[in-house]
Amino acid sequence: MQIEAPTAAAKTPKWSSWYLTMPKLAVGLLVALLIALLWLLQDNEKEEQRATLIADVLWLEQSIRFHLESNSEQLQQLALDLARNDDSDALFDTRARHMMRTNPELAHIAWLDYSGVTRGAIPGHVSPRQGATAPRERGEDHFDLARKLGKPVFSRPFPAQGESFFELYIPVYRGNELSGMLVATHSLNGLIGHLVPWWFVEKYQLHVIDDEGATLASKSKLDTAKATLSHQVSLDPPGYGLALRVIANRVTTSTAQNLIITLIIFLAGAVFWSLWAMRGLMRHRLAAEQALRSEHAFRKAMEDSLNTGMRARDLTGRITYVNPAFCEMTGFSAGELIGALPPYPYWNPEDLERTRELHDKVLDGLAPAQGFELRFRRRNGETFDALVYEAPLIDADGRHTGWMGSVLDITERKRAEELNRQQEEKLQATSRLVTMGEMASTLAHELNQPLAAISSYNTGCLNKLASGNFTPAELHGAMEKLGLQAQRAGKIIRRVHDFVRKSEPKLAECDLAEVIDDAIGFIEHFAQKRQVHIERELPGWRHPLLADQVMVEQVLLNLMRNAIEAMGETVPERRRLVVQASEHDGVIEVRVIDNGSGIADAVKERLFTPFFSTKPDGMGMGLNICRSIIEFHKGRFWVEDNPGGGTIFVFTLPLAEAEHPHTP
Ligand code: ADP
Repeated sequence: MQIEAPTAAAKTPKWSSWYLTMPKLAVGLLVALLIALLWLLQDNEKEEQRATLIADVLWLEQSIRFHLESNSEQLQQLALDLARNDDSDALFDTRARHMMRTNPELAHIAWLDYSGVTRGAIPGHVSPRQGATAPRERGEDHFDLARKLGKPVFSRPFPAQGESFFELYIPVYRGNELSGMLVATHSLNGLIGHLVPWWFVEKYQLHVIDDEGATLASKSKLDTAKATLSHQVSLDPPGYGLALRVIANRVTTSTAQNLIITLIIFLAGAVFWSLWAMRGLMRHRLAAEQALRSEHAFRKAMEDSLNTGMRARDLTGRITYVNPAFCEMTGFSAGELIGALPPYPYWNPEDLERTRELHDKVLDGLAPAQGFELRFRRRNGETFDALVYEAPLIDADGRHTGWMGSVLDITERKRAEELNRQQEEKLQATSRLVTMGEMASTLAHELNQPLAAISSYNTGCLNKLASGNFTPAELHGAMEKLGLQAQRAGKIIRRVHDFVRKSEPKLAECDLAEVIDDAIGFIEHFAQKRQVHIERELPGWRHPLLADQVMVEQVLLNLMRNAIEAMGETVPERRRLVVQASEHDGVIEVRVIDNGSGIADAVKERLFTPFFSTKPDGMGMGLNICRSIIEFHKGRFWVEDNPGGGTIFVFTLPLAEAEHPHTP
């Protein structure tokens, strides 16, 4: 369960782009190298083909040359034999025919006499030269040249009958004298047709061209459009700029090679495509990882900030995870707890049996859903009360892998509850005494007044008696007043008595102004000590109230005391306490206004709760009693915020005779 801390999130994008760029570069380079290799291979092949072509052309040129030379030699031999033989006509006929048969390129062989007149010719007298422009007319006299040189001479090719021919002149000497001339007419087409083998024409186009580049003869089975590679050698004999031009077909890349190139390109494309797809996937994964990391960080932060202890166990009861709050609670480190089997180090040895029982229940899935309380022991031996909730732990595949428990240290809460309970008990027992005491203490002030009056009347009477200078009427009057004061004191004591015994309060008509003055009179000394100035704001009329004067005074005293205490922090010049009275809708409304600390909302909610007090020595019963008294008088009691800062306590009281208000 302890998941590794997330790695720095910032480094992932750079890493991923490199991770993707490298294979792309490598694949690109590989493809480029493969293509270069294939190109080199093809280039090599081209070179080889070129070399073969040159060799073949040279071979062809050589074989043509040999052939023409051999023709020339045969004719020279014939020339010699003709000079020596008597029956030269028959010899010419036989030998010339034989040559014509074995050399299909020979179109015509003529035997001329020394003046150029034909003595014999095979076949017949018809020569291709007939109809063609005679070399002599073109300014070329091969006959003469051969005669002068005394050796065979080739003529310039000439066109005739739609093809090209050339002649070979062989002088015939009898002794030292020229007796005639053998003229062998060669057909160029016949020559290449005879001498160029089949395989040559399968491979190449062959052209015999003249010095101006015009084709005189050709042999080919190839399509000229595709031809690119060519080689040319001069054809000598017959010379005159005649040349053999051989053109090879373009280097044909083999099907296998084409297939390999196609496959390489296809595979490279596939690799790029898969890299592209992988990039998408990777981005997806990185985004998911990032989200997971944030989620993990968020959860970890949440877990760490929890002050509830979390503890996970597998199905065998082995602890697999604890959060920092749990470690802090028990005092054991995560290392000590993870992997532990029951009894766990934080189990309370004194409560081992019950703890184990509950533990087994949890593992059996029978733990109470509302949680259970247990006492655990910290590492330092201290025990604490824990509230434990257990929930099944389900993994990502939906399998139940263990139990997750949340543990709350409720020692403090329990202690507070206990304390509260004890306090409540005590307070309940003393509340009545407190209320009584409070009442008694305030009323004791009131008692002082009649008692002081009694004392002073008494002293006056005694003084009069001692002086002897008195009239019975004077003494009577004083004694009567003395009696009245004694009655008032008695009344007060009776009220205290009544209040303590919770007997019904006595409702009687009373003057609000008098009540307020009385209350201010009681508190004045207290206010002066705290530099609080008390103001009354009363209407001019005197409405009689139907109320228990002592109780209403008690309410006012309470509110005024609270107001004075609340102004403890107020600057002295603002320590103003206003008691305001007004009449609305048949009720009298009294407002006690201070510029004190004001009451926070949280305090306001609990204001009337018995024994609620924010003061260190406060009883917290005052407001509660006030409200009870006002409600008893069928009035309302509430609190408002003073807009100028501070608090306003308001209560209403019914008028005694609303229908007969006293006019001022
Ligand atoms: P006690 O005066 O003994 O605390 P009370 O019931 O009279 O009990 O008052 C309850 C609490 O209400 C006080 O502790 C005080 O916090 C608050 N309180 C009462 N009157 C005022 C006031 N005028 N200004 C501010 N707080 C007040």
